[in-house]
Amino acid sequence: MALNRRCVACGQCFDVRPQVPDQRYCPSPPCQRERRKLWQQSRRRTDPDYRDNQLRAQAAWLARNPDYWKCYRESHPDYVQRNRQQQRRKAQQQGSMASDVAAAGLFMMYVISPIALAKMDACLLVKLVPVSGLTRP
Ligand SMILES: [Zn+2]
Repeated sequence: MALNRRCVACGQCFDVRPQVPDQRYCPSPPCQRERRKLWQQSRRRTDPDYRDNQLRAQAAWLARNPDYWKCYRESHPDYVQRNRQQQRRKAQQQGSMASDVAAAGLFMMYVISPIALAKMDACLLVKLVPVSGLTRP
């Protein structure tokens, strides 16, 4: 007797294939696409080799199809419009974050600790004091 289960994607009942006792998605193409998409996302997150391999394959494919994105943008104006809005929003968010960090103006910079200056990723711990707040000698 076939085991019956509810699909986690569409919620419809389906017969579980005896070969796949843990089956959670029904055989309908959209649900199988969803299952594969989630599997791939999780694999990319957890498997660095898989992620590198995917990136290399995509780069190789793009090298073979250099006009793909140009043609895609020409034939999908909605995509171009949406992308432009997202970029604008992102730029605005980054702009507002920058203004939270520091106002424009003159500052005195006090080096608190020079850390490993010889290294490329070295940094300095500094304190910035607005020049207007200083009392001149
Ligand atoms: Zn389904």
